[in-house]
Amino acid sequence: MDPLTDTLVSRQLGSGMARIHPQVHPSIESETWGPIQSALTLLPESMQDTMPNIELAHREFSPAQRQYTNAFVDKSTSNPSINLVDSGPLWRAARGGGDNDLKHLASVLAHERGHAVDGMKEEPAYALQLEVLKRLNAPKGMMKSVSDARDTAIRQQ
Ligand SMILES: [Zn+2]
Repeated sequence: MDPLTDTLVSRQLGSGMARIHPQVHPSIESETWGPIQSALTLLPESMQDTMPNIELAHREFSPAQRQYTNAFVDKSTSNPSINLVDSGPLWRAARGGGDNDLKHLASVLAHERGHAVDGMKEEPAYALQLEVLKRLNAPKGMMKSVSDARDTAIRQQ
């Protein structure tokens, strides 16, 4: 980990990170925290500070479903958490720690936080996600696939 990232993570550990409790197998814990911490530091502090618990969820999906199932909010408790699907392409890519994959993860956390904390519907949640990607200078192709996903979600409502 480079010194700059180290500083950012330490700062983050002092604030919102106390609320992050990834539920993962102990052997992959450090591997799991790194990308989540790095992604969180890309978000505005106001968003980091109000981030719900983030957990890794193990779900079996068919390959066709998997493409669209990266994260979901578990609203079955009074304290909704964000669940990252461990077999989904988002998480599998983010584990590699590449800049763009972390931007994608950050934008998805912002989207899911919108549902969990602000009770957003799909359209505003995607608008927020696109705003985050734009601010992070994400690649055009990533913006396009997120706006395509938004259009599909709106059509399905
Ligand atoms: Zn959504």
